[in-house]
Amino acid sequence: STLLELNQVAKTYHTRFSANTVNALRDVSFEVDRGDYVAIMGESGSGKSTLLNLIATLDKPTAGTIKLGDQELSRIPERRAAKFRREHLGFVFQDFNLLDTFNVFDNIALPLVLNRVSVGKIEQRVNAIAPQLGIDTMLAKYPYELSGGQQQRVAAARALVTEPELLLADEPTGALDSRTADEMLKLFASLNANGQTILMVTHSAVAASHAKRVLFIRDGRIFHQLYRGDLDNDG
Ligand code: ADP
Ligand code: ADP
Repeated sequence: STLLELNQVAKTYHTRFSANTVNALRDVSFEVDRGDYVAIMGESGSGKSTLLNLIATLDKPTAGTIKLGDQELSRIPERRAAKFRREHLGFVFQDFNLLDTFNVFDNIALPLVLNRVSVGKIEQRVNAIAPQLGIDTMLAKYPYELSGGQQQRVAAARALVTEPELLLADEPTGALDSRTADEMLKLFASLNANGQTILMVTHSAVAASHAKRVLFIRDGRIFHQLYRGDLDNDG
């Protein structure tokens, strides 16, 4: 069934100090089914961050609609957006965004704390997700004590601990060396194999090639789509 649905989405930025407008997205329509793993691939400036920000309810489209399940995102009032994000979405960023003064356990627990989940339940959830990501021996450590790949797995645990319907990843391998990036991509594939719906934006063909489906974006438009099988055939 359809989890995410974009219908003729456009985003125009009006820059404050000039008359210029930037059409960052134009007529973007696509769907993501539950259980799908979709990569949006494009060069810098093609509109990936804009698209992700709209889906993340951090910004609103100039035209068109975005629905997650039955909820049209632009109808979510500002004051409810943060809660909606925490309840439905998980985020993994290029630069991990871990809190340096929190240990690994507390970094992973943070979204649950913000959701006012009880202490007992928090312990239960963190202790359940950590071994899945191979970081159960690192819970008392601080981010600076970990390698980039380990930090990214902590970031993934934090994103997944709320059991989000949709995992959004912004260039998740961008700060990792190629071997660590490969491990991360294998992790994403295994999460997806276990049912996690994933939407990733990336400029990396290697990262995109791990998704089941790749949408190509240029100048704010989706201009092509490939399925995993097509990619395999291309070598
Ligand atoms: P990507 O993430 O693929 O690098 P972006 O979504 O960041 O692309 O940018 C798409 C286009 O929109 C670019 O031309 C960029 O300069 C422009 N843009 C992005 N954010 C803003 C903004 N806040 N104000 C004005 N223009 C913006
Ligand atoms: P970029 O892809 O342009 O390099 P980042 O990877 O740093 O930017 O962040 C991706 C986007 O996620 C940013 O546009 C930012 O507004 C958004 N973002 C940052 N912090 C959060 C957060 N806590 N929750 C959701 N989205 C966030």
